[in-house]
Amino acid sequence: MKIAGMAASLALAAATGLIGAAPLQAQGEVEASSEAPAELKLWRLSCGDMPESPLYFYSDTMDYAGKTKDLPVSCYLIKHGDTYMMWDTGFGTEYIENPADGLIQITMERSLLDQLGDLGLTADEISILGISHNHGDHVGQAADFPGAKLLIGAADLEQMRTGEGLTLTQSDELAPWLDPASDAEGVTGDKDVFGDGSVVMLAMPGHTRGHHALLVRLPETGPVLLSGDQYHFTEQMETGGVPPFNWNRAETLASHERFVALAKNVGATIIIQHEPGDVGKLPAFPEAAE
Ligand SMILES: [Zn+2]
Repeated sequence: MKIAGMAASLALAAATGLIGAAPLQAQGEVEASSEAPAELKLWRLSCGDMPESPLYFYSDTMDYAGKTKDLPVSCYLIKHGDTYMMWDTGFGTEYIENPADGLIQITMERSLLDQLGDLGLTADEISILGISHNHGDHVGQAADFPGAKLLIGAADLEQMRTGEGLTLTQSDELAPWLDPASDAEGVTGDKDVFGDGSVVMLAMPGHTRGHHALLVRLPETGPVLLSGDQYHFTEQMETGGVPPFNWNRAETLASHERFVALAKNVGATIIIQHEPGDVGKLPAFPEAAE
């Protein structure tokens, strides 16, 4: 009786998306169905670079002293059936003409729209815009896709709309979705984007309040776990490093734990979005992983 009750609560939680296990279980059901799964492809696009970034900036334990690293800014395009989704939009295109050369250097070669043009795509064809979190190097070109439905952590969306507790970003980066009546979904917990377990936003709060990573289950390549900013570079995984500008240290460490365990359990290839060594884990644009 007690177990049946618990099973019923779990089923209810799964149905309402309250627990993360639901999308992963759903994948098994899809595989068992006679319907062919939707085509799934993943491209890596460049949306800026931070050459010679000082790494101490990313450690609240004074780690990485004196070290620098070229940190790329990565964005991703996903094709699910006939639907295109962007994951993160990098820095704003102003850095193409005006690179920043302060403590953090920022350069950019091409805009996302320019690169999408290589695939014969325009902004209108991107119908879903998934954003890992509201920092300026992830929302910079979001407004170039005003017709897309925005998916972002509810707390990060709320911050953009109210300006409360906003750091390393500006509300107007998400101008098309600041009106509560706009086509934006503040995601709480996990979000199975297409309802078939193939692309799942995973709640990993800590870097920001509403931060998410993204699991993409490619049919040939296998599962790929895109980090958002759960980690900024490989050394952070080795030392459990936490940047001092993160919203919450304890939440970050709890999300580190979820990220690593989940990647292991599903056998995912981990891609840290700012890690130069991880760029080559996906084919060079315009080629896609399938
Ligand atoms: Zn960030």
